[in-house]
Amino acid sequence: RAKARGRATYQFFEPALAETAYADLVLEDELAQGLTRNEFELFFQPQVEATTGQLSGAEALLRWRHPQRGLLSPDAFIFVAERHRLMLALGEWVMREAAATARRWREQGITQGHGPMRIAINLSRMQFNLDGFADTVKRVLEESGAKGQWLELELTERMLIEDIEHAPATLAQLRAMGLTVSVDDFGTGYTSLAHLTELPLDKLKIDQSFTARLPDDVGAQAITRAIVQMAVGLGLTVTAEGVRSAAQWQLLAAWGCQQFQGELVGAPMSAGDFEAWVRAR
Ligand code: C2E
Ligand code: MG
Ligand code: MG
Ligand code: MG
Repeated sequence: RAKARGRATYQFFEPALAETAYADLVLEDELAQGLTRNEFELFFQPQVEATTGQLSGAEALLRWRHPQRGLLSPDAFIFVAERHRLMLALGEWVMREAAATARRWREQGITQGHGPMRIAINLSRMQFNLDGFADTVKRVLEESGAKGQWLELELTERMLIEDIEHAPATLAQLRAMGLTVSVDDFGTGYTSLAHLTELPLDKLKIDQSFTARLPDDVGAQAITRAIVQMAVGLGLTVTAEGVRSAAQWQLLAAWGCQQFQGELVGAPMSAGDFEAWVRAR
């Protein structure tokens, strides 16, 4: 009997599984330390207006300067942060850092003459679905001396649908504070545009998986054109993500897409590099 149990135990602790669990625990620990040691940083990717080419904003993208592993992208650590609620602290750090940066850029005149530039922040579902999220945003704005008009919040379809009871009121509160509300990665979820008409939204970001299949893929053309045209018809601003070629830009602009973000315009850059990039324009 003992032997049978021993075998069962052995099966449960498959080496690969145990290693993954252990690696996650280490990562969780390092994430918490990283926050207190200030190892996180925001990179900024420019967004421009289709018609004028003017800078309209920058998306803040989280990076972690890991002491051993170097510069890490969110895909390498966000999933662990979300599982362990560390994401709330990390998400608040992102908001405070973005608000402080928006203020600094205005004080230093860096974005002057480049349009009413906003910094867009990615939210995790844990943050948005928490009661009192709008109050947290309000507090961050007050503490950092930033205006709601300087920031934009990116949510995914899934976050909106999972919280469909509270989402309309929360979004209305955020917009009343001057923030822009965007739906990120649109087209990858299971929401219909009709569903989104019930929500107070400003902007829709076309997922880069669609952009990547342009200009040649006929299926991607049909879907993307339909999304852009419907969104524009609903009064939403449409931003295309992952724009890498002039051919993609031209096609999307012809359909009514108003803003572009992607390697064709600029890659995500450190704050210092972004400032130099803006000055050089
Ligand atoms: P996202 O919000 O869809 O951000 C766009 C991602 O596409 C970024 O990856 C960006 O570097 C990449 N990208 C931009 N232009 C191009 C292009 O032309 N070609 C290609 N191939 N890629 C491009 P990144 O920085 O690795 O971020 C990945 C995801 O992590 C983001 O996707 C977002 O969902 C999440 N994320 C980033 N920062 C934060 C954050 O502060 N908080 C939360 N909760 N999530 C974040
Ligand atoms: Mg985003
Ligand atoms: Mg996106
Ligand atoms: Mg994404």
